Amino acid sequence: MLIDTHCHFEPEDDAAALLAEAAAADVRVLAVGGSTALNAAAAASGAPFAYGFDWSDDAPPTPPPESPRLVAIGELGFDFHWKGPETADAQRERFDLQAGFARERDLPIIVHTREADDLTLTALRAADLPRTGVIHSFTGDKALARACLDLGYYISLSGILTFRNADALREVARWLPADRMLVETDSPYLAPVPHRGKRNCPAFVAATAACLAELRGLTLPALADLTTANALRLFGPRLLA
Ligand SMILES: [Zn+2]
Repeated sequence: MLIDTHCHFEPEDDAAALLAEAAAADVRVLAVGGSTALNAAAAASGAPFAYGFDWSDDAPPTPPPESPRLVAIGELGFDFHWKGPETADAQRERFDLQAGFARERDLPIIVHTREADDLTLTALRAADLPRTGVIHSFTGDKALARACLDLGYYISLSGILTFRNADALREVARWLPADRMLVETDSPYLAPVPHRGKRNCPAFVAATAACLAELRGLTLPALADLTTANALRLFGPRLLA
């Protein structure tokens, strides 16, 4: 069994069909929010879900709903690829507010970071969250991975791992501690090889897992056992409820 620790459902998606397709492939799912619309679709999907507000808008994040299926706060985080450095303070404020929700609710966080290594590390350090969390769809270098691992965070690999130009990321993936790796799709985006060009879906997490298994010299079942145990350690047993 594999766990896709990061997929998004959009309001128009047939979540039940996507979850059934995933179950048929022996894939479980963590449905991740990030905006008002994504949070609603994640909560309505019936899967365990994460509730959060990413870097992309400015309205203050609202506290998460009460639900036995709520297993994380996120995604949230930092992006200087799509937003300019003048938004650093606003991005930090959004992060800090939601780190407070994670602390109050005793939940881990799901972190997006792109071209914002320093701000991300400063904020993670300052938040000093007891449950830590995961850096999702990791694309950073070894130095960023090392710093996040030292703070107690997990590193999640998406379909980008399979892309032809991702040698540097594959090098990081080879080197990660075995007890801190997760796999994800970030669907509907970033479909892994050999599914490029299609709409990504949770079942495709197997392609990323197969790539990671090969890099680590493991069989796919051994890699699946490892990453599933890691996901359960981070998100808790409700991930399979
Ligand atoms: Zn995402």
